Amino acid sequence: MAERVANPKIQEEDSLYDPNLRPRVLSEFLGQTKVKEKIDIFIKAAKRREEALDHVLLYGPPGLGKTTLAHIMANELGVKIHATSGPVIERIADLASILTNLGERDVLFIDEIHRLNRIVEEYLYSAMEDYKIDLMIGEGPTARSMKITINKFTLIGATTRTGLITSPLRSRFGVDLRLDYYDPEELGSIISRSGGILGVEITGDGESEIASRARGTPRIANRLLKRVRDFADVKADGVINQEVARNALEMLEVDSVGLDNVDQTILMTIIEKFNGGPVGIETISAAISEDKDTIEEVYEPFLIRQGFIAKTPRGRAVTPLAYSHLNIPSPHKQTGLFKD
Ligand code: ADP
Repeated sequence: MAERVANPKIQEEDSLYDPNLRPRVLSEFLGQTKVKEKIDIFIKAAKRREEALDHVLLYGPPGLGKTTLAHIMANELGVKIHATSGPVIERIADLASILTNLGERDVLFIDEIHRLNRIVEEYLYSAMEDYKIDLMIGEGPTARSMKITINKFTLIGATTRTGLITSPLRSRFGVDLRLDYYDPEELGSIISRSGGILGVEITGDGESEIASRARGTPRIANRLLKRVRDFADVKADGVINQEVARNALEMLEVDSVGLDNVDQTILMTIIEKFNGGPVGIETISAAISEDKDTIEEVYEPFLIRQGFIAKTPRGRAVTPLAYSHLNIPSPHKQTGLFKD
């Protein structure tokens, strides 16, 4: 499995539990209605025409289901999926060997496609466009380049950072799908489905309690469900109701809107060390000893979406809403950064 910027702890849990929790067909993939509708149509059309599906770019924060959707698409198309990741493909030869091994209409899934190196990326262009690649035959002075045709395939690229995708690459995708954070009702159904698979007894309000603290992210919802289940097994009679969920999540230091201790540290550091901001992302990263990319990809998007952090031209600033959530008097009336 490729190295990812997302929290390594979360990845570890994923690999342990995902085999059975990961939806395999489109109807098991809950939420993201618009994205699913589009995928359903594109898949049906490609199958009817007996053609490879057009290349698809999936984007959105970690844990929202990009990898899952890529596997579902291959499954629904009835083709094989070859999964890899941007940083793993280091040389043109690595990519050439992957491309020449693709069967007709297979799916090539490249996670973290924004991390492909430029040379490899450029090599991908003609494969995506004309299904042709240059291969080096022989070695030394007699080596020569030969153009070969590869099977028609579908590239599914996933990225957490659209801003980092170059425009030549982006323009070669025929379909662009954006996954957004899930609302609590959608997460509630995901928890209910996972609970059923894991054989956990959980009440409706227990589901809602976990859903409301899962940062709009299925991966986190599943992870919290498993930790709450441990708590219920040991401290209650195994049943997850609202009270059990609430107590367990408090013990796990996940607050009422889903902020964990890293989120809280980010907010408190900006407030206490930098007067509420604005402050640059590098400075925040150094102050809390957390990787800058992880802050930008995992923590910040949710804090911005919750309205707790604002991006200003001079850096990140904590908003009055965050002060009130943390029960700290807001200094913004004096600084004038935020007017209420
Ligand atoms: P990403 O590739 O975007 O980081 P994944 O596809 O690995 O996210 O999803 C993380 C986990 O969350 C999956 O293993 C799956 O169990 C669960 N999951 C994601 N999206 C859904 C969904 N829409 N319905 C049910 N489970 C989901």
